[in-house]
Amino acid sequence: MSHLSVYHDYDVPQDLQFKTADIIRLGGLDCSSKLSPNYFEDVFERPNKITQVRVELSFSVASKEILVRGKISGEREVQCARCLDMSRQPFAEEFLETYSHKQEIIDIMYLVRQTLALTEDIRFLCKEQCKGLCPICGQNLNEATCGCKPENLSPFAKLKGKFK
Ligand SMILES: [Zn+2]
Ligand SMILES: [Zn+2]
Repeated sequence: MSHLSVYHDYDVPQDLQFKTADIIRLGGLDCSSKLSPNYFEDVFERPNKITQVRVELSFSVASKEILVRGKISGEREVQCARCLDMSRQPFAEEFLETYSHKQEIIDIMYLVRQTLALTEDIRFLCKEQCKGLCPICGQNLNEATCGCKPENLSPFAKLKGKFK
């Protein structure tokens, strides 16, 4: 068995707690796994949720540290900030982190959850050109138009009309 062998069939712990000693003994590790979405139920605010998660990890052992490169991909169900419809969207994120050899456990779950949580700071849209809801009757303007004239609503809109 070569010291630098890479084990693609390594049994990835579902909770992503890797033993530092194992990684050092293997001289590095490349692995990937599909994870249960249960681990990520509380990462997003409801009604948004993560429905599929897959991780790809690459551990490199240096003299004092272990470098971890990771890719997270999957699917999320999120509410559009304009029309409030739910839509399924694929996502893909990457991270890079170093750990000391002295740490007993490399907690990749923490890293994955943090990375996913940060993506929620972005306002989700069902599509870039989402027309949103009519502020008067609530019609989803992506599906149909309504007879309302929102320009009569705000004084700003009236002003804009004057200078046409
Ligand atoms: Zn929308
Ligand atoms: Zn309307």
